[in-house]
Amino acid sequence: MSFSSRNAILIGGFLLGAYLLLMITVTNAGQNRLKESQSNELSLKVNSYSESLGYFFNSIKKDVRDISSHKTTFTFFANLASGMSMEYGLGSSLFQLRRNLIFHTKPDVREQTGPYFDRLLLVGFNSDVIADSHPRLPFDTATIPFAQFEQSEQKIDAVFKGDQLVIRVMHSVRFNGEIVGVIVGYVNNEVLTRLLTSQENVDRGSRLDLTTDDGIYPIWNSLGTDASESSSNISFNTLYFDQKVKGTPFYLHAWFQPVSEQQIITSTWFTAALSFLAVPVVLGLYYALRINNTNLILTTKFDQTSKQKVELSKQNARLKTEIDRRRTSEEELAYQATHDALTGLTNRKAGDEKLRSAIYAAERKQESVLVLFIDLDNFKQINDTLGHLAGDQLLKQTAERLKSAVRKTDVVARIGGDEFLMVIPNLQSQGCAKLIASNLMRTFEAPFFLDQTEFFVSTSIGMAIYPQDGETAEDLLAHADTAMYQVKEDGRNGFSFYDSSMNQDVQRNIDIDARLRHATSKKLFEVYYQPIVDLKTCQIIGAEALLRWNDEKLGIVSPAEFIPIAEKNGLINTIGKFALNTACHQIAEWQGIRPISVAVNFSSVQFRQSEKLLGIIRSALDKSKLPASQLDVEITESLLIHHNDETVALLNRIKELGVQLSIDDFGTGYSALSYLQKFPFSKLKIDRSFLQDMESTPSSQELVNAIIAMAKALNLRVVAEGVETDWDREYLQSHKCEYAQGFYFSKPLPAAEFEALLIEQVAELQPYPINLRS
Ligand code: C2E
Ligand code: MG
Ligand code: MG
Repeated sequence: MSFSSRNAILIGGFLLGAYLLLMITVTNAGQNRLKESQSNELSLKVNSYSESLGYFFNSIKKDVRDISSHKTTFTFFANLASGMSMEYGLGSSLFQLRRNLIFHTKPDVREQTGPYFDRLLLVGFNSDVIADSHPRLPFDTATIPFAQFEQSEQKIDAVFKGDQLVIRVMHSVRFNGEIVGVIVGYVNNEVLTRLLTSQENVDRGSRLDLTTDDGIYPIWNSLGTDASESSSNISFNTLYFDQKVKGTPFYLHAWFQPVSEQQIITSTWFTAALSFLAVPVVLGLYYALRINNTNLILTTKFDQTSKQKVELSKQNARLKTEIDRRRTSEEELAYQATHDALTGLTNRKAGDEKLRSAIYAAERKQESVLVLFIDLDNFKQINDTLGHLAGDQLLKQTAERLKSAVRKTDVVARIGGDEFLMVIPNLQSQGCAKLIASNLMRTFEAPFFLDQTEFFVSTSIGMAIYPQDGETAEDLLAHADTAMYQVKEDGRNGFSFYDSSMNQDVQRNIDIDARLRHATSKKLFEVYYQPIVDLKTCQIIGAEALLRWNDEKLGIVSPAEFIPIAEKNGLINTIGKFALNTACHQIAEWQGIRPISVAVNFSSVQFRQSEKLLGIIRSALDKSKLPASQLDVEITESLLIHHNDETVALLNRIKELGVQLSIDDFGTGYSALSYLQKFPFSKLKIDRSFLQDMESTPSSQELVNAIIAMAKALNLRVVAEGVETDWDREYLQSHKCEYAQGFYFSKPLPAAEFEALLIEQVAELQPYPINLRS
């Protein structure tokens, strides 16, 4: 436990006060006790003085009596009575008497004290002095109270001898029963004084008086008071006693200074001094307390100030952190407002702004600006297959590559999911633009690494140049986008400059879209059938149903052109249903000629409405009465890429209907072997692009071989698409490809023509090739 200095001072003050109080009380009590015992002692002393004096007077009274009855006295009076003359006996007896009187005024050698009497006289009753120890000294007989000796034979009194009071002891002398004289003895004051002073300590202030009716006989006085001072005056602050002296009419009056008065340490003065001393001590304590209080206040203030300082610095720190935080968040906000969160590239808005300022600068300097619209090929598939995290990784790496391919001053922005914008100011020539685009393409030749897997991703780049391709940011962006779209149309992985004919393509797409709605509602489509041939027998074992549209305004439009538009505007569901129903009816009809199957193309868009699609297939089969086993549902890899559990379930349910499933255009999309295992396919169709240059390209042959081998391993039958030459047929045949389809056998044919062909083949049982073009 710790004491504060204030508490320590308070406790110290309290203890000191208590000590002083105790000291004063004890001193007072001591003094009182001392006074009491002193008083007792002095009372005893005065008593003893009085006793001694009593004894003394008794003794001298006896002496006087003895003298009065002494034989010398008696002899004298006897001689006197007998009438004896002085010359004869009387004179001698008087001489004896006087000798006796003188004897008593002589010092006693043995006792070494002075004589008790200064003078002894025998005064006759007739007032004559009969005998005198000191006959030369004057004596007034009138002072002898003769009358009083009638009542008592002895008397003591005091008379003034000059200015000195002397005590007389008198005794009557009787002869024959009559008073004849009085013995008068003057007491030796010296003896009296010595008798009393012998017991007294002279150091002490005191006074002793023997008081008689006639005056005071001062024995000693060391008080320094006047002998004449009244006792009431003296008694203040002194101890006063009075005592009657036995056998005398006298009193002893005594004054003593109290012992404590002289012993400073127990005196009232001492107490007063102590108390007085206590005043500065208490004052000191008070000031110490005040100083301490002031200190305390100062310390408290100091503490408060330091606390406030600490608090203030904390607040400052908090404020600083808050300001920093705000500044950072403002910077972040500003950064976020102009940058893409994922790649850190400039975002669309800021990209637009930069393009605008580049145009503004170019306009002033009469320069050209190159605008590149860059889109990754098949990014959506990658994203869906490998997950968004991998997709994000790919975008980040792409951003890095794009940045590294151009100058720091060039603008690289991300303007959409996998769309990037580049703005290259001060373009020297179209040649430079080509160089830049080629450079960019080259950066994509190196593989990407996603989750430690090597990946190749290509891009499609569209370019527009200020000022020839547009004078505003909007126009330039739109035109670069169109050019990019053209690259996609042309099979991706390339770059293209904008030219105005591209806009015509766009217009055509718009026209197709409009006409397609009309054609769909009016069912203005026709289904053509392309034979699928068994390569062993060269017999038609099936047909692929392919849509044909001959618009009165647009003319013949290829399904490769209108199907993607139908997929975008949603008409594909109606168109697809039409194709399925038509094909099923047609093939069901032809079952009588030969039990052939029909392959119908399904768009992945149709698979979005799974229940509906299942119903459509079931109803098509029901209505046409076509055995389910004769229907082949062709789907492309794109469906598999976007697949989910529902897709797998739907394909299984389609399969459960007894329908065959084929994977179309195998090898063009994002092929993954796992799909083949996962989905219940029975056929695989090798894309015709593999066969296009197969004859001249050994690597294509290898690929085809590999696909066939893999399909076999997975227990899938293989259909080769785009068989155009005999070499193709033979190669495939020799490599155990089961089925083939292509112009070599027949182009897609209208139903009537296909029917004729089928009938012809059945009738003649002729193997292909049949020249239908004739
Ligand atoms: P696909 O399913 O791969 O159909 C085969 C395409 O290859 C057909 O083009 C056909 O005419 C063509 N072809 C066949 N043999 C050869 C050949 O030896 N050489 C060449 N160069 N081409 C050959 P088509 O009819 O223009 O169809 C194009 C695509 O349109 C089809 O490709 C298919 O994906 C789609 N399509 C056609 N009809 C439909 C349909 O009813 N529904 C859906 N969803 N898509 C359809
Ligand atoms: Mg097909
Ligand atoms: Mg195909």
